[in-house]
Amino acid sequence: MRYWLDSLDRIVAVDTDWRVFAVENGAEELTEESVVGRSVFSFIADESVRHLWALLLRRARQGVVVQVPIRCDSPDDFRALELVVTMDGPDLLLVTTSMLFVVPRPSVRLLRKVGPRSTSSVRICSWCKRIEVPVRGWCEVEEAAVLLEVLTGATPPDLEQGSCLDCYPSIAARAGDAEAGPSPAGPKA
Ligand SMILES: [Zn+2]
Repeated sequence: MRYWLDSLDRIVAVDTDWRVFAVENGAEELTEESVVGRSVFSFIADESVRHLWALLLRRARQGVVVQVPIRCDSPDDFRALELVVTMDGPDLLLVTTSMLFVVPRPSVRLLRKVGPRSTSSVRICSWCKRIEVPVRGWCEVEEAAVLLEVLTGATPPDLEQGSCLDCYPSIAARAGDAEAGPSPAGPKA
């Protein structure tokens, strides 16, 4: 799927695959009319994720083809994607995400969009989709689901987006920021 950003990071166009992807991922409200004209950053709440996106977009505007492996799992599928950001004309950036492979798995309730949630929350890495489990650290989804059930009970906690301690420096480095330290969203005190 592809979308285009102007020089102020506003979405100027999306392709038909983009809409299909939004619907498949339970975001029916994201119609083309509702997103065109909005800043891509209006869809990103977490500060560390916003910062990395800003670095990636800046790097692409320097004429570099920016490539980042990402995960975009559904409850029922492990999905590996590649995110590519390139210039597409003097003032436009083209953002492309391509599915590399999909592996079906037993459904993970923790990732479902609907259903009850407990009052606690844990962070999910926006880039690799690992989940930060208290005491244990960043774990793959399946392991996190089992551990969280033991730690916090049968009702899954809320998921907050973030950047894990591996992805933050590695994506910053891909964006040409060699000085990147650890994620600003490090372990909560
Ligand atoms: Zn990560």
